[in-house]
Amino acid sequence: MNFILKALFLILMFFQANYAVSAVNETQFSPPNNSEAYVIGKTNNGCIFGAKALPLQGNGYLLVHLERQRYYGHPVLIQTLQELAKQAQQQQLGILQIGDLGQNRGGALPFGHRSHQSGLDADIWFNLNPKSYANANKQRSNIKQPSMLNPNGKGLNAMWTNKHRKLLELAANMPEVDRIFVNPHIKQDLCTTVTGNRQWLQKIRPWYYHDEHFHVRLRCPKSSPECIKQAPISAGDGCNATLSWWFKKHPVTHSAKKKIKIPKACQI
Ligand SMILES: [Zn+2]
Repeated sequence: MNFILKALFLILMFFQANYAVSAVNETQFSPPNNSEAYVIGKTNNGCIFGAKALPLQGNGYLLVHLERQRYYGHPVLIQTLQELAKQAQQQQLGILQIGDLGQNRGGALPFGHRSHQSGLDADIWFNLNPKSYANANKQRSNIKQPSMLNPNGKGLNAMWTNKHRKLLELAANMPEVDRIFVNPHIKQDLCTTVTGNRQWLQKIRPWYYHDEHFHVRLRCPKSSPECIKQAPISAGDGCNATLSWWFKKHPVTHSAKKKIKIPKACQI
């Protein structure tokens, strides 16, 4: 009898100890307000709680540069990328090679970008050729990422095709997508070639570089009131003076470096 009581006592102690450990872990690591995912701040000064990892490959896409471990984002970003890849595959545009999203808690990246901090940004390569990753190493870090620009910097080269235009249209038409950054030459190409519905061109924004990848940025999720929105894009297709500005010579201005105040909730 004594033995049975002793055994029962030991079993009880075991469960209590385990329960105590899991309770501590839960309170330590649960995001604020117990929301599933929560964005704080701006894309270039913020962070995210409850980010999800994009699986390393899926229908119509594969992640590249796995060694950087920048494959985390808001669940809506993960869904959007998976949906875009699926649609691109259905339309036979190729397999998407997806580069950086963000870190698992967001925040500033040690190199490469100022944005990608709040789980709402992702880079997708223009290289849609499946042959390009046939000999990829384990980390997929040795795949070529060719530019779509001519070597003299004027206009686009022969690698640029209608498939790229179609892919940008698919991405821009996704309701969660706020804007997409591309090289000014790419925006200009779209301005001169796209016929019919040009509404989606509004979301395509000219920006420095972005000649070998495009950058997709989602709008602030409604469930994240502390996510700071970017200024809205002005109406129209953007094929105007704001685009031609990029092709004029203008002095390079270096604005004084402001001291960045990181949101408190991100300072963990
Ligand atoms: Zn980017």
